[in-house]
Amino acid sequence: MGFSIDTGLVTGKSKNTGDNKYQLVIAGGGPAALSAAIYAARYGIKHVVIESWKPGGQAALTAEIENYPGFSSIAGSDLTDKMRKQAIEAGAVFNMETVEKAEEKNGKLFIKTDSNTYETDYLIIATGAAPATLGVPGEDKYYGKGVSFCATCDAPFFKNKKAIVVGGGDSAVKEALHLTHVVSELGLVHRRDKLRAEPYLANKLVTNEKVTTYWNSHLIEVLGDEYGVTGVILESPEGKKKIDTDGVFLYVGTKPATKSFSSLVKLDDRKAVVTSNIVGTSHPNIFAAGDVTNNGFRQVVTAVSEGARASAAIFELLTNK
Ligand code: NAP
Repeated sequence: MGFSIDTGLVTGKSKNTGDNKYQLVIAGGGPAALSAAIYAARYGIKHVVIESWKPGGQAALTAEIENYPGFSSIAGSDLTDKMRKQAIEAGAVFNMETVEKAEEKNGKLFIKTDSNTYETDYLIIATGAAPATLGVPGEDKYYGKGVSFCATCDAPFFKNKKAIVVGGGDSAVKEALHLTHVVSELGLVHRRDKLRAEPYLANKLVTNEKVTTYWNSHLIEVLGDEYGVTGVILESPEGKKKIDTDGVFLYVGTKPATKSFSSLVKLDDRKAVVTSNIVGTSHPNIFAAGDVTNNGFRQVVTAVSEGARASAAIFELLTNK
């Protein structure tokens, strides 16, 4: 049995009809977007998910997730694959494109990607965040030649080699722990003398016999030769010191991916989408979910909750129209 046909809601599978007119565009491919897609499809909202070339988002690049209810340990990519499969089974439609610009004309939203323009009544911004950089000499030059933002992806290249991880948050500590299974020696460089990561994991890392900690230290230069990274220069209150290393893994926070939406919704100083009532934005027809927001607690479990809430809010608006 179908329902609410007069709202334009569809029953069964949401088809890509080719006219590029939708009730909802979901921008993003991580847990927030996937959860929004599951709910949108089940509510019968005519939607399309514009996932970028990185399905699964940052969560898919996490080696192991141990705090998502239902799984005491699961690879991030396995978890997001399961979510994507569930969304497709529910009838979600995915297009692998990159959003370039979102604008508003005559009360409609237009989402321009690298290959299409979509017209939509509602938009969920779930584009997540990209790794932040340090902006130090050598960082760009040796990116892909020893400098990496993804231990899960690149750890095999550092088998029995030396590596350092920069950062003190959950990402730095989790990915450093992953690297300890592969490398011969691991340095942890942190700008303070206390990690902000979950204490259980932080303790597991600093007590690992392969790990040397460099507290109150800033990485100020990445050194290398024609083959790639050879070392780093650290600066601390004691002065500068050179550390030999083959790899540098940077986990110094994230930058919300909001550039395409900056003319439509209010952003904070970090360029995160400012939300009200968890998923609302400064624009009545635009919602936001996951790491792209200023919601603070950035976990897979909160991202999926926000994605679900955003689709539910839009369903309510469509049915009460
Ligand atoms: P984060 O929590 O913001 O941590 C970034 C780390 O980088 C901090 O330790 C920070 O130092 C350091 N840092 C920032 N700028 C720096 C700079 N210019 N130079 C040197 N160090 C710098 O980022 P994250 O670890 O990527 O985590 C992002 C969010 O995702 C967090 O909410 C986190 O809890 C969540 N997350 C959760 C899990 C999980 O499984 N539960 C896994 C990964 C991420 P200070 O400590 O001094 O500020």
